[in-house]
Parts: sequence; C-alpha cells; structure tokens
Amino acid sequence: MVHLITQLIAQLFDPPHCALCNIFLSQRQLWCHSCAQQLRPVVSTTLSISAAHQMPVFAAAAYAEPIKQLIISKWWSQRVASWQLGDLIWQRTPVSVLEFDYIVPVPLHWRRYAWRGYNQAQIIAQTISKQSGKPVVKLVKRVTATEQQSSVSVEMRDKNVRDAFIFCGDKEQYRGASFLIVDDLMTTGATLKWVAKNVVDSCHPQKINAVVAARTV
Ligand SMILES: [Zn+2]
Repeated sequence: MVHLITQLIAQLFDPPHCALCNIFLSQRQLWCHSCAQQLRPVVSTTLSISAAHQMPVFAAAAYAEPIKQLIISKWWSQRVASWQLGDLIWQRTPVSVLEFDYIVPVPLHWRRYAWRGYNQAQIIAQTISKQSGKPVVKLVKRVTATEQQSSVSVEMRDKNVRDAFIFCGDKEQYRGASFLIVDDLMTTGATLKWVAKNVVDSCHPQKINAVVAARTV
C-alpha cells in the first residue's frame, strides 16, 4: 500500500516521459518507441591482447543518440543513467551467455573519482553482477591520471594509457579464471587493451571478454 502511494505521488510529480524527446509515456520506461528504435546496433570487434589472447568486445549500441545522452548524462541522476547502461548491456549484448568468473571494471584515477564521486564503469559492472551473480573485483589500478582520451589524438591514445594501469590483485587466486572487462565507452580500444593486458599477464586467464555500453564506429 505504502509502495502504491509512493508510486502514485511519483507519477503525479514526475510523470513517465521519454529521456530523449520528453514525450509523456503511459508507463515508466527509458525511451518512447520511436527514440528506442534509433539505437544503432554494432557488430562485435576483437582486440589482440597477447600472442595467446584475443579479446572480443561487445557493445550495446553505436555511440549516437539515444545512448550517447546516457553516457554524458548531466540532466539526470548520473548514477541512474549508469544503471540504465548496465541494463541495456544485459539486454542487447551476448553477456548473459558469456562464460566469466569475475567482472573487472575499468578503473578511474582516484583524483578523477574524487572529483566525479563515482565511476560509471563500476556501476555498470555492479548492474551486470546483479544480473549474472558473478562478483565485481578490483584487479587493476589506474596509477596515472591520464588525459581524457577524447582530448588526445587517435595516434596518441595508445601511448597515453600504456603505463596508466597496474595489476593490484592476488595473482594466484585469479590464475586461470575467466574475466569480463567492463567500460562505458570504447573509442580506439586502447584503454580496454591495457587493462586487459594487466589481467592477462598476471592471471593467464582461461577466457577474457569485454563489454561496453557504446562504441564509436
Ligand atoms: Zn522519445
């Protein structure tokens, strides 16, 4: 009953509307039908991590509206936007049928974390953890506050993140396990590659996959 009343009050003050075009909706959902149809699917890609490890990367959609707005979200609670990204990944990528034991979010440098107050990749990872029942583990640490990848030229991006990460887990505990690396956005793939390289070199995984909310294509 209390839940119903709270829901009615919420409907009254914040009636469901499309997060992109603001049109009112008859039920609470993220986008109206026509905005949701703008989501552009994107084929998976593969990053070469080591001689023995190729890492498939799956994306929920191409980096364009309406998903772009969730990634750079300022207009809404950013945490809510991150949960939505996690749900979209679950619905729109093969992540539910992938084999993995642990989820590894791409870390932020502590200074950027302190400034933003949260890590979008971490929240997406937690959403996937809730769905899959697999734990989120912190195995990689960002030791350099790299320039925002978007402000660096494509050629410099690999160099920019090359030494930005170190492995910080227990190598023996995770040896031979399978991992899912998670981030919000993939552009050149350099960040995903160097996070994965730390995991591969330290844990010699059985399998390594990556999943992102969106990918620039
Ligand atoms: Zn709409």
